[in-house]
Amino acid sequence: MQTIRSVSELRRVVADVRKSHKRIGFVPTMGCLHDGHLALVEASLANCDVTIVSIFVNPTQFAPNEDFGAYPRDFVRDEKLCRAAGVAIVFAPEAKEVYPAQFETIIEPGELANTLCGAFRPGHFRGVATVVCKLFNMVQPDAAYFGQKDFQQCAVVRRMAIDLNLPIEIAIVPTVREVDGLAMSSRNRYLSLEERRRSLAISRGLFAATEEFRSGERDPKRLIGIAKKHLETVDRLQYLELVDTTTLKPAESPLERSAALCVAAYVGSTRLIDNVILSLPAS
Ligand code: AMP
Repeated sequence: MQTIRSVSELRRVVADVRKSHKRIGFVPTMGCLHDGHLALVEASLANCDVTIVSIFVNPTQFAPNEDFGAYPRDFVRDEKLCRAAGVAIVFAPEAKEVYPAQFETIIEPGELANTLCGAFRPGHFRGVATVVCKLFNMVQPDAAYFGQKDFQQCAVVRRMAIDLNLPIEIAIVPTVREVDGLAMSSRNRYLSLEERRRSLAISRGLFAATEEFRSGERDPKRLIGIAKKHLETVDRLQYLELVDTTTLKPAESPLERSAALCVAAYVGSTRLIDNVILSLPAS
């Protein structure tokens, strides 16, 4: 496995790989890897000849009041995990390599970025779309792997790839959870034991609503209500919404198309997000 820090070296290595017509799979991450990230790596390894993982805590997707400085970083461990998994290249640039002086061009996503997390994190998806587009241009992958846990991010990236005619297959991998249901996240390490216990309200709420949906419930208000009951133990519910999986607009009643039940909640000072898809056949 090679660790590459500069865009120019990455380009050289990628050019060689492309000459041999190998399929390149790309997994963008902010590091502090866990089994959720590794599921994306596995999906790439299964479908591509060469897997490239980027590890870059992207400053432009954090607002000044957010946790950019405190975001957990563990590069040595991340490298080990990548090597053991069978990753070919870890790309870990410095911020100034990605955003040199005079950098000023951005990708501005549209409506998809204004709801859910976007309503509470203005500019977040602009930062995400910009860095993902830049990384796509640096890595030039055939396929890129994203986690359903960041459902809105998947929607924004998929839209960007279509709108900008990026020749990259965007693959979405289901959320990996701890055995008790909590969605894996690098931010889970912020939780105290007591907060970790209370954070289970999030997945329990989503699973309870899924059960009702499977039993035939199609009323968005009732489905949201069922999840909400469980969420009483979080410290602050930022949003709990049932949205159309494509438009991210509030799901229509009764549900006739697949919808995502999405939540963001604070447990202590940690902001956690999660979602489940309530699948219906396309009409
Ligand atoms: P992050 O390092 O948090 O920016 O995440 C990098 C990628 O891993 C994103 O596509 C995430 O959606 C994905 N990811 C994070 N947590 C999980 C999880 N629990 N299951 C599946 N994918 C995940």
